[in-house]
This record gives sequence, structure tokens and C-alpha cells, in this order.
Amino acid sequence: MKKPQSKPSYFNFRRLPHGVLVAGDLGGWALLTPAEFKLFSSGKLTKGPGLAKLERAGLISSRLDFDALCADWRDSNDYLERGPGLHILVLTQNCNHGCVYCQAGSGRGASMSPAAARRAVDFAFSAPVEGLTLEFQGGEPLLNWPALKAAALYARSKAAKTGKELALALVSNFSTMTEEKAEFLISNDISVCTSLDGPADLHNANRPFSGGDSHARAVKWIKYFQRRRGGLPPGGPSALLTVTRASLGRAPEIVDEYARLKLPYVFLRPLTPMGQAPKRWGEIGYGPEEFLEFYRAGLNRVLALNRRGVKIKEKTAFLLVKKILGSQDNKYVDLRCPCGAGLGQLAYDCDGGIYTCDEGRMLARDGDNSFRLGGVRDGYARIINSFPVKACALSSSLDLQPACARCAYKAWCGACPAYNSAAQGGFWGSMPSNARCRILTGVFDHIFALLAGKDNLNIFNQWLEN
Ligand code: SF4
Ligand code: SF4
Repeated sequence: MKKPQSKPSYFNFRRLPHGVLVAGDLGGWALLTPAEFKLFSSGKLTKGPGLAKLERAGLISSRLDFDALCADWRDSNDYLERGPGLHILVLTQNCNHGCVYCQAGSGRGASMSPAAARRAVDFAFSAPVEGLTLEFQGGEPLLNWPALKAAALYARSKAAKTGKELALALVSNFSTMTEEKAEFLISNDISVCTSLDGPADLHNANRPFSGGDSHARAVKWIKYFQRRRGGLPPGGPSALLTVTRASLGRAPEIVDEYARLKLPYVFLRPLTPMGQAPKRWGEIGYGPEEFLEFYRAGLNRVLALNRRGVKIKEKTAFLLVKKILGSQDNKYVDLRCPCGAGLGQLAYDCDGGIYTCDEGRMLARDGDNSFRLGGVRDGYARIINSFPVKACALSSSLDLQPACARCAYKAWCGACPAYNSAAQGGFWGSMPSNARCRILTGVFDHIFALLAGKDNLNIFNQWLEN
């Protein structure tokens, strides 16, 4: 029998409407015609543009550049040698909104004392990282201003003493923002992010606020921070969107609202079954296909605006395109392998409890303590070696997930043990019936369909350049 002349290296594949995607473990990929794929998979593709693409992607086993492949892998996974860089301080469980999907705790609850906030900062600085981000969250963190101020000033002084790089961030509904607080945030270089669910009627229906018009408050302070900071990150305001059933069919309007407010990103993320959402799923939830229709309409609207010169990006597409087009970026902890639970982030609750991540902390509010690692009085080594960190690392390692191991999108994807626990009752979940996986598959399909068009590819490249 004749020996194959161009034996493929290990690959996964997916048939798409415009060709067959073949992808290696390290992120190399090529889109082949069905005829090229037939030759490639049988080791008989010996000439033509398809072969050149496959060689460059490291998919021909006899022509692998091991040095380049190893360097690439090391660069994109160097976070594994460090510790968690993102530290989320839940300053209070109190909130003055009654969002239909609340996942963080609305109504009255516990708050962190300034002393407890400083202890959390001490713990965060004990992580073996050169740079760290402290993010203030709630409930509504502005309702615990003394702890926020104490933690921010203490962290800045620790950064000066230790020489560690420090970024501070606030996630707030802005409803109790004042000029004095805003100026403190600006002078201490604390970036701000708020919630914006779209035009006023939609936002206010999703986010009832007993004190008045939530949308108007959010917009007022977005504009204030833009005026004071030039409107661009780092430091400029950003916003997060939660998509409910009421948002479906309104993706272009939502994108237009973000563009109108000159926000740099719109982040089209599906609702997760945590907090209030599972209890009201029949009213506010939807299926993966419904979300994907919304997503495609939203991303298409972003690209249409880009063609007219409007500068706005869709965050999920941005994160994925960045990885797919070759600049492996594993800062986003929910789309990496293993995921960022403990290894990339930690969340500190009001009682000093430490969790793998904010989602793990949210699950504890509903009585599931599987993601609790210990408390701030435990040492770093004990926390990072705790069982939930190991369980998350194993269950989010895609080579150990049977469906992911054979998925063409594995190199750029990530599994979420917290989502799996909430939706399917265990860290591992089951990808064939996992709604998050179905959504990610559909998002990747759409992005690869867009990448096949030169015009879209140019726009995505501009996103990366800027
Ligand atoms: S468990 Fe999920 S939410 Fe938590 S870090 Fe991992 S991917 Fe992110
Ligand atoms: S989660 Fe789904 S889309 Fe992602 S790698 Fe696993 S099977 Fe593929």
C-alpha cells in the first residue's frame, strides 16, 4: 500500500456551510474545501493553497516547527505558572435595585467592614503575581462607601510598598453616585463599569429601581466619566448587558444604544441560571437558539455600524477573534483551559469567605458551597491547594471533557464548572445537552462564517489593531 505523503498531525474538524474547518490543539487552523479535506484527512494532499495553509497552521506532522509551537504554547499558557490576578471584593449584599435576573444579591444583606476589606486586600497581595486587579462589586458597592474607600487607599499604599502593579475597578449601577465619589474614583484611577440593558424602556423593565429612573442615572454618570476621562478605556466607563426574553428581537436597538452613548464595547452575553434567573426562567429565560438569533443580529449590527465608521466592538467576538487570529490571550478567565477558578481569580464575600470566582460565590447564596475555598485568615497556599480549585481545574480541562476533546473549537474555548453546577448539577456537566456549549458552538460557527468574508476579516483586524 502506498504510504500517505502528508500525514496530518492531530486535528479536530467541523463541517461549516462554506468549507471544512480543521483545527489543531494549539490554535492552528485552516478552512478547506470538501475536496481538500478529503485529501488532507487521508494524507494525500501534496500541493495547492490548502497545503500551504495547513503547514502554516502546524497541521502536517512531517512539517512541524516545534520551537515555534512550543514558544507559542508557553506564551499563551504562562498564567499557569503564576497565581490569581483578579480579586473580586463583594463589599455588600445590599442593593437598591430589584433586577429581574439578580445574581448578586438584592434587598438587604451583610456588608464588609473596612477592616475586613483591608484583610481581603492583604490576602490578594499574598498571591504570587506581579500585577493584580481588585474589583469592587456587590450588591451595590457604592452602598458601602467606607469599605470601598478604605480598600482602595490601602491597596494603593500596598502597591507602592511592594512594587506590584495594581488596577482598581468598580462595577456599580451608579444610582447613588455623587460628584464627590466620582472624583475620588477618578483621582485614585479606579475604572468604572455599569449595567446597561439597552434603551430606557427595556433597561428600566429589567432593572426596577425604587429611587427613580435607573437608565437615566446610568447614562448621566457614563457621560460624566466620559467627559472627565476622554471616554476611552483604561479608565473610561464601560457597561455590561444582561439579555432577557424582553431583549430578544431588539439586538440592533441595544447595539445602537451603546453606539449612541459612545461605549467602546457591547457584550452580548446570555443569561445564566443563577440567582433569581432560574426562579423566573419561564418569564425571562430563553433557549440557546433564541439567544443565537439575537447574537447574530447584534454582531451583524455592530459590523454594519463599523462599515459606516462607528467605532464599537462586540466583546465575545472580540475575545474569540483575538484568539483565532493568532494572538492567544488568556486574560478572560471564563474562556480558557483550565478556567480561571482559583487559578485566575478569587472572590471575597462579606463574611471573609473566599470563593473560586464570583459565580461560585453566587451559588453559595443559594446554598451550594462547593466553590468555597476557605477564608481570608487561611494562608494563600491552603486556599490555592484546596479541593474546589483542583476540581475546577480538572473539570474545565477540555481534553478531559469527552465532547470538548473532539471539538474543532477546543483551542479557543472554555468550560465553566460553576455554570455546569447551576445548570446540570455537577462540575463536569454534560456538553451534548449543555446550553452554554450550544451557544458557544453557534457563536464560533457565526464568527467563522464571518471570517470567510474579506470585508469582515478587515474589520476584525482593525478591532485588534485598535
Ligand atoms: S467556574 Fe466558571 S465563572 Fe468560575 S472562573 Fe471558571 S469559567 Fe469562570
Ligand atoms: S464547550 Fe462546547 S464549543 Fe466549547 S470546546 Fe467544549 S464542546 Fe466545543
